[in-house]
Amino acid sequence: MHRPPQGTLKLPTELSQGNVAKLLRGAGLRPTRQRVALAHLLFAEGDRHITAETLHEEALTKKVPVSLATVYNTLHQFTEAGLLREVAVEGAKTYFDTNTSNHYHFFCEHSGRLLDIATGSIRIEGLPEAPDGMAISRVDVLVRLVDK
Ligand SMILES: [Zn+2]
Repeated sequence: MHRPPQGTLKLPTELSQGNVAKLLRGAGLRPTRQRVALAHLLFAEGDRHITAETLHEEALTKKVPVSLATVYNTLHQFTEAGLLREVAVEGAKTYFDTNTSNHYHFFCEHSGRLLDIATGSIRIEGLPEAPDGMAISRVDVLVRLVDK
């Protein structure tokens, strides 16, 4: 599978429709109307962690007519293209992270929210050797939170 280098895509903070189209083209995706609309919702407000269901609700609220299936497909296409990073939390729940750099997460079990952990605040030691013919692609750390 093609994997673009992580953390190399710099997203402009102010995203106009034109910038969104450029961003999509730069990632090798045709800027269809639905992709542009969804990319705008995803990337216009800085880093966020979002599920397909939440993005779908947001789209409907903003009068963007898309089906949940289209939202799923688009999120996976964006992930393949290196615009998003997938964070699997548990079971069927997948979050899509607009911050594609290598970082870890807090997961709030009560609210279901994901929060970034400052890079450099966790050190991983004693990683096992990958089995023959394989290499470690990345290490995911999820620190689960409950209310005190
Ligand atoms: Zn994150």
